[in-house]
Amino acid sequence: MSDSAGSPLRRLRSWLGPAAKTSLLNLGGYAALRTLTPSRRVAILRYHAICGEEGYSYADPMICITPQNFAQHVAYLASHYTVLGLPEIVARLHERKALPHNTVAITFDDGYADNLPAARVLHQHGLSATFYITAGCLHGEAPFWPSEVRYLVARASAGELRLRMPDQTTVLPLANGHDRQKAVRAINKLMKSNVIPVREDIRRQLREAAGHPGLPRHMLTWAELAEMRDLGMTIGAHTCTHANLPSAGLADATREITESKARLERELAMRVTMFSYPNGGAERYITPELKRIVADSGFAAAASSQNAFAGVHSDIYALERVEVEERLEDLVFALEVERFAFAPR
Ligand SMILES: [Zn+2]
Repeated sequence: MSDSAGSPLRRLRSWLGPAAKTSLLNLGGYAALRTLTPSRRVAILRYHAICGEEGYSYADPMICITPQNFAQHVAYLASHYTVLGLPEIVARLHERKALPHNTVAITFDDGYADNLPAARVLHQHGLSATFYITAGCLHGEAPFWPSEVRYLVARASAGELRLRMPDQTTVLPLANGHDRQKAVRAINKLMKSNVIPVREDIRRQLREAAGHPGLPRHMLTWAELAEMRDLGMTIGAHTCTHANLPSAGLADATREITESKARLERELAMRVTMFSYPNGGAERYITPELKRIVADSGFAAAASSQNAFAGVHSDIYALERVEVEERLEDLVFALEVERFAFAPR
């Protein structure tokens, strides 16, 4: 099931103050829950960027976790959960073998440069994670469009932004910061709902409106990715250009899936068997046909953005993940209390 915003447990989360959650954490309430009613499902955590405010120029604050909080998460997870690599979990799910109680897996989407220090923190704690990389958007290649849109909208001249598309012209006011936030959301929607050539034309118009500024570096380099591989991290594919696959058209969607795998395998000299579908949210980002293409391309599993726990009930090509919370108290609350609200499908 999806993240049921109106569920009693979700309401409990907002009703229970931060101090109460901190007490629960410190007084061993969660440890008791883990022992008395262990989770038989796996929480596949979904991270993106590990940065503070300095990262808001390239990532939505909603997907940023500060390095300080991330280090706390990792230390806590390492000492309170069975943290397994996703390939091992997938192998067990394929064989219908039970998972250890209270299993957690850690994943990252997109391939931000800030993921390298995160991988080092994981390595220091003896943990591994899966990093889903947008294989055509590493540093020095095509800019990663969700970051570029944020960057360009912040630099477009005040007034209004006119974006011409084959069937309509969208006019977005840019009078103040609030307008610009709204414009980023509107443009993201356009980028996700159009075929790739139209998406690229919107990007071209946006660059023109912003005066073609150089984009600062915010994605990983191939050398950094190789270092992460050498630290024992799993590298997965997240398409080549962060295409919204159902909108891309079948031929382009297939190319995005197969070429991202081939490129990563060639550059890193390793097999790539994990995939995650880009986007999510309100826009359709996954279809039965796409799942089949991912499976036929040789991936062993694919992760979705469906906010829930995974387990034997899961579709291996649409594994549910748990969206992470900034504060450790909220993350553990989701893992130990909200898990009762996530009923298997
Ligand atoms: Zn993504």
